[in-house]
Amino acid sequence: MELILELPRIIQTAAETQNPAAQVRLIVDSIQREMNVDVCSLYLAGDDNDMVLVASHGLGDRAIGRTRLRASEGLIGLVARSRHPVNLVDPAQHPEFRFFEGIGEEDFRSFGAAPLVRGGDIVGVLAVQCREPRPLSSEEEAFLVTLAAQLALVVANWSDWQTAGDAAPPVVIRGVAGAPGVGIGIVRRCDDVDLFAVVDGACADTEAAVAEWHELLRAVQAEVSDEKDMLGEYLSGEVAAIFDAYQMLLADPSLVSGVEREIAGGRDLPSALKSVVQHFADLFMAMDDPYLRTRHEDIRHLGNRLYSAWRGERDAAPVDIEGEPLVLVGNQVGVSDIASLPRERLAGLVSLEGSIMSHASILASALGIPAVLGIGHSRPINQGERIIVDANAGQVLVNASAAVEQEYLRLASEEHALRGRLAHLRDKPAVMRDGERVNLLVNSGLLADLSPGLDAGAEGIGLYRTEIPFMVRAGFPSEEEQLHLYRNVIDAYRGKPVYMRVLDVGGDKPLPYFPIREENPALGWRGIRFCLDNSSLLMTQVRAMLRADAGGDCLRILLPMVSATGELVRFGGILDDAVQQLRAEGLNVTRPPVGAMVEVPAAISQLALWRAHIDFISIGSNDLSQYLLAVDRNNPRVAGAYDHLNPAVVREVQRIAESAGALELPVSVCGEMSSDPAAVVLLLGMGIRTLSMNAARLPRIKWLVCRLDADLAKDRLQAALAAADSTQIRRGLQTFLEEIGYPGAESNPQDNVGQIKEDSTTSTPRAS
Ligand code: PEP
Ligand code: MG
Repeated sequence: MELILELPRIIQTAAETQNPAAQVRLIVDSIQREMNVDVCSLYLAGDDNDMVLVASHGLGDRAIGRTRLRASEGLIGLVARSRHPVNLVDPAQHPEFRFFEGIGEEDFRSFGAAPLVRGGDIVGVLAVQCREPRPLSSEEEAFLVTLAAQLALVVANWSDWQTAGDAAPPVVIRGVAGAPGVGIGIVRRCDDVDLFAVVDGACADTEAAVAEWHELLRAVQAEVSDEKDMLGEYLSGEVAAIFDAYQMLLADPSLVSGVEREIAGGRDLPSALKSVVQHFADLFMAMDDPYLRTRHEDIRHLGNRLYSAWRGERDAAPVDIEGEPLVLVGNQVGVSDIASLPRERLAGLVSLEGSIMSHASILASALGIPAVLGIGHSRPINQGERIIVDANAGQVLVNASAAVEQEYLRLASEEHALRGRLAHLRDKPAVMRDGERVNLLVNSGLLADLSPGLDAGAEGIGLYRTEIPFMVRAGFPSEEEQLHLYRNVIDAYRGKPVYMRVLDVGGDKPLPYFPIREENPALGWRGIRFCLDNSSLLMTQVRAMLRADAGGDCLRILLPMVSATGELVRFGGILDDAVQQLRAEGLNVTRPPVGAMVEVPAAISQLALWRAHIDFISIGSNDLSQYLLAVDRNNPRVAGAYDHLNPAVVREVQRIAESAGALELPVSVCGEMSSDPAAVVLLLGMGIRTLSMNAARLPRIKWLVCRLDADLAKDRLQAALAAADSTQIRRGLQTFLEEIGYPGAESNPQDNVGQIKEDSTTSTPRAS
């Protein structure tokens, strides 16, 4: 067996072992066995970067925890210091060799070691030794180096290893933020049924098994429809469509007949189901396309759902209605898991593998449940554990101290009180101290999130993301369906501007029913490119938008990901056509203002070329930061590098504001910059007077606007432009916000209660 093939198994087993001492023991034992060496030892960086021997197969147990090497000592120190592997015969002859009494190292004639590096820091060293004087082969050396690199991501820190008794150490696990907010509750695992672990069985009575299969399908279909009804009062039309997509899968002929065929071939019902579901899941997984993951999640979930219904478990475990708040945790939390709990019991949602575009995440947003997605598998989260879901920061805290929990509760109640204190601003205009008016709008994408914006006093919708209704359906919504949706949105904001963006799919926003296979989807067929190439879809959408605003003048159309003049020209032609068609059909429609999102860096220098084709621009600071910095905005591993206060982003946004001013092109910002008070100070300093943000932030941003005047904001902008990096920029602005008494300066509860271990090992890229 090739060594490298053993790698995933070792990593997976290590990742699933919760106790740090057992974890490191398991690692060294497996490596010793697979590499057929006499000794395998693992050192972890302790205080002052000393290397502490935490596990060894082959060296005496007495040495564990006692053998410590300074970074300047011995061959282990050399590997840590140089960040470089070593592979030696007769290590005792090496000038850096250091002899340790009593651990028997003198018996070994060869030595190989590789460093464990995480986030740029050396967190340990993995070493192997042999009695024979033989160097590691190149395959063995490659194995050791690769293993060390991957182990660095799953191995616990020395401090945890030390403190791990019965109680596991506190851990922060990073993921991707879904619906914002903080929730504290008891873990309810929703994937403890595993269809894929079913042992194959034979079928004695084929006919009875097929009948049982049909009965099972009917029962689960009925359950799904009950769940949809149960959530009725919370659900908007487009989220209800998620349940319809589930129903469609349950009625899919290839699923139904596939299981029948397997039963006819001699399998019992569970193993027939396993085989068919596995087949579909494998198909999607093998394609390795991000957009298909959503489908893969649904299929796996439905498989488990059917299996658990077959075992009669769903009814056997009713929810304890009186009990504590619950946090749903699962590999992929399913929509039906959410629906099976009363809304008031649900404090949060954590999905190990899901993405912000998964159905569960979309439903959580609609219901206002804090959600963190894609935290990976490096730390098991067990049924019954108490956890904190900090969806504002995109992290989960396991075993947090009472002090940390208290701090989160304190902030939550402050937040609540603050909302009350700022309520009086709701109907007041946002006017700066020097009398300059600022327009504050909200971002939206679901019917369910229309009212928070209205309640916060929004002056319109600055960005309506139309892709969400497209993503939760089983196929493209018809013109009538879209008309109904858009009319609801425009009616809710009657008289106020609504900036509707045409479909922005592709990249990180997959349509499950319209697969796009690309090597590099972030740079591929997305946004306006996709729309123009599918011009009949675009025509349908534009017609629905125009019809929704017929007789009114609320609609503004926003084009995503524009990078070339030709795209604006082509869109203009389609819009003119749509207007003409609808007029010919007798409708009173006018050509609405059209604007381009400025989110592809190429847009910045072309604004003058585009002026004749557009009426306004809106800065999409999320994608603009992503593309300027070459940092995937959804990848927790590089989250530290994604910052809209990076000097490059600040300077480019200023350049856009200046060009727009010179071209008399109205400009707004609809990316997250508008929700970040520090960035808002700079945007106001640049002269930007229209901001579209998430509704929860609006009252505070209005407070801020009313405290500033243009000169003060310009001063802060100048200071930021003189700063060396984003840290300095943010620090300066934070100090400024504190000085002017900005309400609820976003603090991190952990900062207030001392150290808690951050688990950077969980930097799983989002599984979309
Ligand atoms: C943006 O990129 O800043 C933006 C508002 O668009 P989205 O987040 O939907 O990509
Ligand atoms: Mg964008």
